[in-house]
Amino acid sequence: MKKYDFIIAGGGMAGLSLAYYLLQSPLRDRSILILDREPKSQNDRTWCFWERGPLTTQTDQSEGLLTRSQPFESILFRTWKSISFHGTTYSGMLDMGPYQYKMLRSIDFYAFMEAELAKWPTIERKQATIQRIKDTPQGGFVIADDEPYIANYVFDSTFALKLDQPENHNLLQHFKGWVITTSTPCFDPKRPEIMDFRVDQQGDCRFMYVLPFDEKTALIEYTLFNSTLLLDQEYDTELRKYIDQFIETGGYQIRETEYGVIPMSDEPTQENPSEHIVRIGTSGGFTKPSTGYTFHRTQRCLQDIVQCLVETGKPQRTVPWFKRRFKLYDSIFLNVLEKRRHPADDIFTRVYTENPQRVFTFLDEDTRFSEEIQLFATMPFWPFLKAFFAVLRRKIAG
Ligand SMILES: Cc1cc2nc3c(=O)[nH]c(=O)nc-3n(C[C@H](O)[C@H](O)[C@H](O)COP(=O)(O)OP(=O)(O)OC[C@H]3O[C@@H](n4cnc5c(N)ncnc54)[C@H](O)[C@@H]3O)c2cc1C
Repeated sequence: MKKYDFIIAGGGMAGLSLAYYLLQSPLRDRSILILDREPKSQNDRTWCFWERGPLTTQTDQSEGLLTRSQPFESILFRTWKSISFHGTTYSGMLDMGPYQYKMLRSIDFYAFMEAELAKWPTIERKQATIQRIKDTPQGGFVIADDEPYIANYVFDSTFALKLDQPENHNLLQHFKGWVITTSTPCFDPKRPEIMDFRVDQQGDCRFMYVLPFDEKTALIEYTLFNSTLLLDQEYDTELRKYIDQFIETGGYQIRETEYGVIPMSDEPTQENPSEHIVRIGTSGGFTKPSTGYTFHRTQRCLQDIVQCLVETGKPQRTVPWFKRRFKLYDSIFLNVLEKRRHPADDIFTRVYTENPQRVFTFLDEDTRFSEEIQLFATMPFWPFLKAFFAVLRRKIAG
């Protein structure tokens, strides 16, 4: 049996990105097998994320170090310099400072990766269903479509989180979106609405997300943060209601639909469950529990993993202990949402309007502690304090 240097189990967002970063590094001559049950030829999702404006840094090959890069600039579908927000006491634009809001269609990402990976004979891609991933003294072992494969390291993005352990918060971000084309020009292409809370909250956190492609076309997404999925027609009803009430379309056609569920959970994930297996993407805990944003975080984590491989020969990275405080913040926020300790639309209004720019740095986990205190001071005190103690109790009991 051929032994690969790396097997990438699951060639989706995280798996393909990892392969790309490996190829940009001094490890580009290593043998890599990518296994996925899907051909990745559909536009199955749209990723949005914020990031500082384009960087000029590139892989520093001479040093053997991978510096932060923004490889997807050329395939972004849209980039916005500012965003709009509609909360309880504020409606208008938000200052993103150095950040830009970016949108990438998965079909463009998959095509880009296909073209990049095809340049390298060291990469093999196989369409197969993975049945088992196991660590052995010889390396990471994978069975897919009854065929065995082995590698020095297996990077797994197929592992499913449990999301049902009572000591954790197990919320879901679920959404349905329509790309609509209207008869009348009614969208401002410079004004993406990241949260519009003018929808019935029903005690939850519910909002619309409106991303304009041009004056007549936009993705409109009905999004909820709670623990119960809706029936398909319930999302449709809310989408229709919102469009009829707030957008002067003059009639519209639905061009595409998107549905998704993203875990918003503080379930402890294991990036390194054993010596030869590394979990990446959602499986590795790269989803930010309090927002569901995963794309940008995954890019950063993968660049760190590749840098570790380059520098030490091992993919196990160490996250500094003081960075772990962000996990506590996430749990506290999830507890406030889960227990409905304070209306979510008011929390988001305070977060975004009283912490311009800082909120994005905070959600990227790049703030200093003093900045975090400033941000917390804008939150309702008692609900968050109660949530803090509830989280402590759960963790101790669990
Ligand atoms: C509709 C949708 C929209 C999203 N939008 C955003 C967004 O705007 N911003 C953001 O930051 N995040 C977003 N996310 C969350 C997150 O970024 C995506 O889910 C992202 O694709 C996660 O990357 P991943 O590699 O972990 O998983 P995936 O991209 O799902 O990759 C996992 C791969 O493993 C394969 N696989 C699974 N099991 C097996 C098996 N047994 N055998 C073989 N192959 C297998 C799958 O086919 C898949 O290709 C969205 C998620 C969804 C579902």
